[in-house]
Amino acid sequence: MSTTRIIEFGALAPGLLGVALMLWSVARLLRSAFQHTDPNLCPGPRRTWVGWVTRAWLLTDYCGYDLSATAARSDGSRRCPECGAVHAAAAKLTRTSHRVRLAPLAALCMLAAAAMWNVRWIRRGGWIPYTPTSALILAQRLSGPLCHDDIRWEVHNRVRAGTLYAWQRHLVVATAIDNLRDDAIANNAEWAMSTLAALGEDSLIALEAALHSPEWQQRQLAAEVLRSWCPDERASRRVTSSPAPVYQPTPKLLEVTVEGLADDALPYATNSTTWVFNARSGYEFLRRHITQAAPYIRAGLNAGDPQQRMLCSLLAGQSRDPVLVAAAAPMLVEQLRDDGVVFNAKYACDSLLWLGRQSFRHLNRALDSQDSQQRTLAGLLVLDIVARDQRGDDCERRSELLAKGREFGARYVVSNASLGEYPPFPH
Ligand SMILES: [Zn+2]
Repeated sequence: MSTTRIIEFGALAPGLLGVALMLWSVARLLRSAFQHTDPNLCPGPRRTWVGWVTRAWLLTDYCGYDLSATAARSDGSRRCPECGAVHAAAAKLTRTSHRVRLAPLAALCMLAAAAMWNVRWIRRGGWIPYTPTSALILAQRLSGPLCHDDIRWEVHNRVRAGTLYAWQRHLVVATAIDNLRDDAIANNAEWAMSTLAALGEDSLIALEAALHSPEWQQRQLAAEVLRSWCPDERASRRVTSSPAPVYQPTPKLLEVTVEGLADDALPYATNSTTWVFNARSGYEFLRRHITQAAPYIRAGLNAGDPQQRMLCSLLAGQSRDPVLVAAAAPMLVEQLRDDGVVFNAKYACDSLLWLGRQSFRHLNRALDSQDSQQRTLAGLLVLDIVARDQRGDDCERRSELLAKGREFGARYVVSNASLGEYPPFPH
């Protein structure tokens, strides 16, 4: 017998108990109604609302002291010598005293029985569509990692439908920002990103704050959302209508984007996969904002992470900023090697060619390289730069050099025509 079946049949126990308590409660009421004595017993001290919220709904504070022999004071009120409660002349006293309220207890038992009997429906989340938005939002906020996936997406759908109040939206923003972290929960970061995007303007301040988060994934995913709101990104993703505001890149966003060029856990995070290729999308983004990002790219040239250094040098090479290209030149020459990275040599050639004679200092060393691709490309670049300086960029001379390149057995030919068409493939 499966656990589910046991729970379903187990519903009989609280169910029968509930019915018994209900009958008992009715019997007690009837007995009290037909008793012919005057109500004279002390009902105990007056309860405050805190009492009702915590325990008074189930347990009474009945004192039960018989007040018939207690003398009334001048205003007719009586003070119970047992519990000290003062009862006005017209106060309602009781006939019998009970410690436990049976009706609410019976209702609790019946509720438990109903819950157990419907265990499949509850597990499946069948109750979610019938639950008020505030309850779902609070449940998600309080349950954290245990939150039912269907609750998340129900909240998301209601956000998109625009049926939330302002305070509810702010609560969802806070929950979504928390969910950007690298945690043990599958798919919650993707839920968070799409929900933040759907919340648009309301999540802007929280997203900008998350760029300063000490947690890597939270920073990177916040940056990914903000990047997608920038005008160029919208154009490239063909976003025509979106609830998100049009966002102009800030220095902090560019800084976090350069940081994300490093070889990190994304898209394959510790416990699950988050389909964010932050180095790739960041690289494309920085290409579009290269002038503004120059200081961060420059800093990235000295980063500890090899992938970040490589991508920063490729970006620097494309910046057409003489100082930045020159700073990247030694690293660009390194990328002429046959290193298994697709197209980085082509980009490096393009940048070194643009830099001209300034790159000779670095190319000279590569002319004696053990790596044949690096040796060949360095040689071709030197020839190409010299030829360009002597004769201008004429096609005849270029094709002559290209033919020579084929003689060298170059695997990548230095040809401006084939450069810049292919994006490199960082992940
Ligand atoms: Zn009393």
